[in-house]
Amino acid sequence: MAAERAEGGAAVQQVEQPAREERLILAVEGMTCAACVARVEKSLKRVPGVRVASVNLAAERATVVYDPAQAAVGDLIGAVEKIGYRARVPRPEAGADAEREARRREIRRQRRTFALAAVLSLPLLVAMIGHAFDLGGPLLRFLTNGWVQFLLATPVQFVAGWQFYVDAYHNLRGRTANMSVLVALGTTVAYLYSVVVLLFGPSLGVHALYFEVSAILLTLILLGKLLEALARGRTSEAIRKLMGLQAKTARVLRDGREVDVPVEEVRVGDVVVVRPGERVPVDGVVLEGHSSVDESLLTGESLPVDKGPGDPVVGATINQHGTFTLRATRVGRDTVLAQIIRVVEEAQGSKAPIQRLADVVSAWFVPAVIGVAALTFALWYAATGDLTRSLLNMTAVLVIACPCALGLATPTAIMVGTGVGAEKGLLIKGGEQLETAHRLQAVVLDKTGTITKGRPEVTDVLPVEEGQVVTSPYRCSDVLRWAAALERRSEHPLAQAVVAAAEREGLALPEVEDFRALPGRGVRGRVEGREVLLGNRRLMEESGVDAAPLAAEAERLEGEGKTAMLLAVDGRPAGIVAVADTVKETSAAAIRALRGLGVRTIMMTGDNWRTARAIARQVGIPEEDVLAEVLPEEKAGRVQELRRQGLVVGMVGDGINDAPALAAADIGIALGTGADVAIEAGGITLMRGDLRGVPAVIRLSRATIGKIRQNLFWAFVYNVLGIPLAALGMLSPVLAGAAMALSSVSVVSNSLLLKRFDPLRGLEAEQAAVR
Ligand code: ADP
Ligand code: MG
Repeated sequence: MAAERAEGGAAVQQVEQPAREERLILAVEGMTCAACVARVEKSLKRVPGVRVASVNLAAERATVVYDPAQAAVGDLIGAVEKIGYRARVPRPEAGADAEREARRREIRRQRRTFALAAVLSLPLLVAMIGHAFDLGGPLLRFLTNGWVQFLLATPVQFVAGWQFYVDAYHNLRGRTANMSVLVALGTTVAYLYSVVVLLFGPSLGVHALYFEVSAILLTLILLGKLLEALARGRTSEAIRKLMGLQAKTARVLRDGREVDVPVEEVRVGDVVVVRPGERVPVDGVVLEGHSSVDESLLTGESLPVDKGPGDPVVGATINQHGTFTLRATRVGRDTVLAQIIRVVEEAQGSKAPIQRLADVVSAWFVPAVIGVAALTFALWYAATGDLTRSLLNMTAVLVIACPCALGLATPTAIMVGTGVGAEKGLLIKGGEQLETAHRLQAVVLDKTGTITKGRPEVTDVLPVEEGQVVTSPYRCSDVLRWAAALERRSEHPLAQAVVAAAEREGLALPEVEDFRALPGRGVRGRVEGREVLLGNRRLMEESGVDAAPLAAEAERLEGEGKTAMLLAVDGRPAGIVAVADTVKETSAAAIRALRGLGVRTIMMTGDNWRTARAIARQVGIPEEDVLAEVLPEEKAGRVQELRRQGLVVGMVGDGINDAPALAAADIGIALGTGADVAIEAGGITLMRGDLRGVPAVIRLSRATIGKIRQNLFWAFVYNVLGIPLAALGMLSPVLAGAAMALSSVSVVSNSLLLKRFDPLRGLEAEQAAVR
C-alpha cells in the first residue's frame, strides 16, 4: 500500500525519488573460512550499483542490496564465480529439496575424500608409531620403506588434498589468503622436503622422511571439514522443519467438484476443503464448518484454537476434528509460513555486529601468520642449522594458525539461536536484533491489545439527567444507541465493543452525518438531528463541553480499570459508556520475568491515567512507569525520549497501530496471533500473541551472545597460545593439525548446544498454574 501511495505522488517529485534498491540472497558454495567471506564481500561490493554485501559463512549465503538499474543478478553471480566460488539464487519454497540434495552431495563428497585420505594415511600412522617405539618386523620394514611411503602419501597430497590447492590458487589470485593457503603451504613443505630427501638424501646426509606428516595432517583437516559440514547441516534444521510444514496438495472446489491440486496451483479466492487431521494448505478465512486447529508449529502455543465461519486460518496449521471450507486469501510467497521462512532465512544469513571484530582480525591474520612462519623458519635455521626441524616448526605454525574457528564462532550461534526462536514462535529478523535484545534495559508495553486482550466489552451505560447520574434503563438505551451509531463508523477496538453491546440489546442504529474520528480522543457526528460527541476528557475540553457532572462517576469506573467514554449531546454532558478490557492471563507472569531479568517495564497508553494505573497495578508495573494519555502521534517521540535518557529501549505493540513507535525503539517487537501478524513491522515478531515472548527473546539473546563470546574466546585463545607454542617448536605438525580440526568442530558443537535452550522454560509452568 505504501508503494502505491509513493507512486501516486511520484509524478511531482520524480527527481528526488531515491534510486531503487533490491535485496538478493545468493547461495555461495566453496567458502572455507573467514578470509573467504571478506573476499566474496569485497568482490560483490566492486560490482557497480551494489550498496551492501554481507556474507554468512555458516549459512553459505550472501545478502546483496543493489540497484537493479545498474547491476543484474548475473553480474553478481559472475563476480562471485570469477574469484573461484559457486553462486546461485536459492529458491526457498520450491528449491527446498534441491538445496537439501546439494548439501547431501557435498557431505558425500567430503566423506569419500576423507575415506581415501584415511585409508592411505593409516599405514603411515602405523609406521610412525612403530618407528617411535623402535619396533621391528617385516611389515614395519616394508611400511617404513621410502618408496612405499611416497606411494601412499602422493595420492593423499594431490587427490584428497587437491581442493586446498584449487582454493589457495583462487585466493592468491584474488590477492588474499585463507586457510587453504596455510594448509597447502604447510603440507607441501613437508611433502616436498620428504621427496627431496628420498631422492637426494644419501648424498646430502639426511635420511628422515616426513611423508606421514603431510598425509596425516591432510586427513585430520579433511576430518574436521567433514564434521563441520555435518554439524553445519544441523544448524539450519529450523528452515528445513519450517519448509516441511507446508502441505503438498490442496482439495479445491472447482465447478462444484473437489479436486486435488498441488498447493502451488491454489489461487486467491479458491474454496478449499479441509478434512480432519489435515494440514491447512494456504491462508484463508473459514466459510463453512467448525473445527479447532493446532497452530503450535507456527506460534509455539500448544492449545488448539477454535475456528468458525469468518475466522482466519493460517496455512501449515493442523486441523483437528471438524471439516471446514475456507476461501484462500494468501497463497505462495504471501502466506504467513512463506514470510516466516523468508525472515528466518534472512536472519540466519545475516551478521551480528559482534562479528565485525572477528572479520577484521581474520582479514590480516593469514598474511601475518605466513610472516610468523617464515620468521620461525629463519630463526630456527639460524639458531640450530637443522633444516628438518626448522621446516617442521614452520609447518606447525602454518597449520595451527588457521582462523577457521574464528570464522564460525558467530554465524553458527546466530543460526542456531534464530532457529530455536523460530521454533518457539519468536521470529527474529537478524543477527543485529538478536544481539540488541540482550542489551535491553527497558521495554515499553502498549496497553491495549498488548498487556490486555484488546477485546474490550461494555460494562456500564449511565445516562445523565439534569447534572445527576441516574441509572434509568430507558435512557440507557438512548445513550448506547447514540454512542453505537457513531462508533459503527469507527474501527477502534472501543468502537467495536460499543457496537456489539448495542447489537446485543437489539437497538436500531440511526444514520450519522458529518462523522469524524479524532485519534486519541474519540468520535463526533450528527445523530437524529443532535450534535453528538463520544470520547475522553481531552475531547470534551477541546470541544468546550463542561464534563464536571460526569467526573465523579467516571473516576469511580476508571479506578476499577475500566475506560469511561463520555457522551455529550448538543454541547452538554449526556452520559457515560464504560468499557473493560481484561488483562491477558500471561501478562503478569511475563512482566515479573522481565523484572527478574533486570529489565524495566513501562506501560504506554492513550487511555486516561486512572485506568492506566489500575491496569498497571494488576500486572505489577510500578506507578512511576506508567505513561498515560499519550496521543497516538506522540508515542514514537516518547520512545525516543527514553532512548535519549540513555536507555536501550524495546517497544512492544501490535505492529499495526504502533508501527512508528516500534520503529523508534532500539528494537520493535510486534505481537501477533496466527493470521493477524504484522511480520514487517518489528525487528522481532512474537507469533503467539502474549507477552511471555518478550522475556523469552531476551533470554534467548543472552544465551546466544553468551555462546558467541565463548566461541570467540576459545577460537582466539587457541590461536594465541598455539602460534607461540608451534613457533617455539613445542608442537608437532600432526598435533597442530589435530588441534586445528578439533577447534572448528568444538566451536560448531558448542553452538549446537544452544538447540537445547528453551527460552520459554518456567514461563510455561506459570501459565499452566493460572489455567
Ligand atoms: P491506546 O493507546 O490504548 O491504543 P488510543 O490512543 O487509541 O488508545 O485512544 C486513547 C483514548 O482515546 C481511548 O482510551 C479513548 O478514551 C479515546 N478514544 C479513541 N478512539 C475512540 C473511539 N473511537 N471512541 C471512543 N473513544 C475513543
Ligand atoms: Mg492502540
